[in-house]
Amino acid sequence: MKVTFLGTGTSQGVPVIACTCEVCRSLDFRDKRLRTSIHIEIAGKSLVIDTGPDFRQQMLREYVKRLDAVVFTHAHRDHTSGLDDVRAYNFKQNMDMPVYGTHDVLEQLKAEYDYIFADRNYPGLPRLDLIEITDAVFSIDDVKITPLPVMHFKLPVLGFRFGNFSYITDANFIPDSTLEKLVGTEVLVLNALQREKHISHFNLEEALAMVEKIKPARTFFTHISHKLGLHAEVAKQLPDGVSLAFDGLQVEVD
Ligand SMILES: [Zn+2]
Ligand SMILES: [Zn+2]
Ligand SMILES: [Zn+2]
Repeated sequence: MKVTFLGTGTSQGVPVIACTCEVCRSLDFRDKRLRTSIHIEIAGKSLVIDTGPDFRQQMLREYVKRLDAVVFTHAHRDHTSGLDDVRAYNFKQNMDMPVYGTHDVLEQLKAEYDYIFADRNYPGLPRLDLIEITDAVFSIDDVKITPLPVMHFKLPVLGFRFGNFSYITDANFIPDSTLEKLVGTEVLVLNALQREKHISHFNLEEALAMVEKIKPARTFFTHISHKLGLHAEVAKQLPDGVSLAFDGLQVEVD
């Protein structure tokens, strides 16, 4: 499978509008972070996890020619607000877009995108096929996906494991039952927001402590704030096998 980091920034992205800090003024392309999302190519399928406000730009940048499904971690706007732009794939592929999410996520999508679900049949609207998932393993054709329940302050969020690859964004707590599901994962993606403690995300120190527990061969941190520091500086301070993800990074997983 091939994973492409579409965006690796926290909810405001990096640079932050009107911020003059050294990270936001950095010319290093790795300090330009769109909102967090990944594209996965696996078993002939093309999937995205989350469609944030930068979804259109991300699909154009990576030239994603086909999209078979969208899988949502949770319904915060920095993960959902690009959903309308799946219509490009509705038109090109002449199919409704399968959208996977928990009951709560799907209910929130229906509320936020009421015009899509209204009984008006306005031409040109996105066409979505909402598919409810739970904590149980599910499949998209031949692709087996194990949900990884985590907590994002008080909000339950799902990470997802595909074979040897596990993806957890927006979490500040991983219960033991999910740690068991992470046993043996070779590649882990985990949120590491900033150095200071945060109410709903792991900070760098907490994320590193989780890596110690889970022991993947390779770890990539994502959902990064401008407060974490310059990519080049932070990268030097990380232990072997741990990297900061950046937009456009591609990772091959067996
Ligand atoms: Zn987020
Ligand atoms: Zn800044
Ligand atoms: Zn969130």
